[in-house]
Amino acid sequence: MRDFAAELQQRHDAGLYRVRRHIDGPHRPALNADGEPVLAFCSNDYLGLASHPELVAAASAGLSLHGLGGAASHLICGHHSEHHRLEETLAAFTRRSGALFFSTGYMANVGVITALAGKGDTIFSDALNHASIIDGCRLSGARVQVYPHCDMTTLESQLAETGGHKLVVTDGVFSMDGDVAPLRKLAALCRQYDALLIVDDAHGFGCVGPDGRGSVLEAGLDEDEVPLVVGTLGKAFGTSGAFVAGPPLLLDYLVQKARSYIYTTAMPPALATASCKSVELVEHGQQRRNQLSRLINRFRAEAAAMGYELMPSATPIQPIMIGNPHEAVRLSQSLEQQGILVTAIRPPTVPQGESRLRVTFSAAHTDEQLDQLLAALADCAPQPIRQQALVTA
Ligand SMILES: *Cc1c(COP(=O)(O)O)cnc(C)c1O
Repeated sequence: MRDFAAELQQRHDAGLYRVRRHIDGPHRPALNADGEPVLAFCSNDYLGLASHPELVAAASAGLSLHGLGGAASHLICGHHSEHHRLEETLAAFTRRSGALFFSTGYMANVGVITALAGKGDTIFSDALNHASIIDGCRLSGARVQVYPHCDMTTLESQLAETGGHKLVVTDGVFSMDGDVAPLRKLAALCRQYDALLIVDDAHGFGCVGPDGRGSVLEAGLDEDEVPLVVGTLGKAFGTSGAFVAGPPLLLDYLVQKARSYIYTTAMPPALATASCKSVELVEHGQQRRNQLSRLINRFRAEAAAMGYELMPSATPIQPIMIGNPHEAVRLSQSLEQQGILVTAIRPPTVPQGESRLRVTFSAAHTDEQLDQLLAALADCAPQPIRQQALVTA
C-alpha cells in the first residue's frame, strides 16, 4: 500500500497542508470561525445574498409547498416545475434560448465537456481554467491542448493545425486572478476555425455585465458567438446549484448525454424557488454592484500604496501576489491574529511560485470593514513581502 502518511507529511513540510475551519451561523462578512469572531474577505458571496432574508423566506415558502427531497433524477421523476421555472428564469436572465439546471458548477463543467467532446476530438483549454474544467477535459478522453493564459496567438496556431471536432473552453472571469478572458477574440477564433466555445462565468454572473448578466454579455456577444455559458448559483446568487445556458439543440443533446446531469438526484425544488428569487435580486442589484466597485477601487489604491503586489483585476477577486507558499501562509496568519480571514492559495490550486492571498469582496462589506482590512495589511510589513515577490519573480 502507498505511504499515505508520508505524503501528508510532505504536504506539511512544503507548506501545502490544508485544514477546514468550522463556521457557525449564517454566512456574512462577520463570521464565527472555530469559535472566534473573524472578519472574512474570502467568500464568493459577492453580492451578500447568501443569507438574504428574501431568499431565506423564498426557500421556506418553497419547503412548505414542495417538501425537501429531490426524490429522483430529472429523467426519472425528479424534474419539478420549480426546476423548470428556474431554467426559464435563467434563460431570460442570460438572454439565451434556454438553460439547464445542474446540481453544482463542478458537475456542470464535467457533464458539458464530457458530453460534447470525446475520443478523437480536441479540447483547447486556458492554462488557468478552473479545476472542474480540467477534470472535465481529462474525463472526456479527448486530446487536450492547454494554451498559456489568455494567449490568443498560441491558441490560433493550435486551432489552425488541428482538424476534426474542436472545443474551446475558458473561464469568463478567472477564479484565482480575477481577470477577464479575451472573449471577443476567442469568439472570432472559434468562428474562424469552426470550434465550439464554452465560457464558464462562475465569477462573472452577478458582478460583471449589464445588470450582472455576465462577462459574455458585457463583451456584447450573443448565443451565436458564444454557444454555451456555464454559471454557478453558489457564488453571487447566494444559493446553490449551477446552470448551462444556450441553444435548444445543445441543451437537448446535454439532457441525453451529460452523465453528471442524468445520474444524480435532482436538487430540492425549494432551492430552485429561492434561486428564482435570487435572479430577481441580482438583476435589481445595481446598488450592491456599486458598493462592490467602491470597495474594490479603494482597496486597490490603498493596498498598492502600501507596497503590496496586486493583479490587473477589476472584479471582486483581488489577489495579493506573494510567491512563496510559506510566506503566503505567514501573511494569512498575521492577518488572522488581527481577526481578518483571508485564505492563502497555494499549489496545486495555482502554479508553483504563485502563492497568494486571495482577497475577495462582497457588497455586504461595509467601508468600516474595509478600513479594518487595510489597517491589518498596513501592520503586516509590506516591505519584506515586496522583496519576497521580487525574489520569486
Ligand atoms: C466555483 C467554480 C466552479 C464550481 O462551481 P460549484 O457550483 O461551486 O461547484 C466552476 N467553475 C469556476 C470557474 C468556479 O470558480
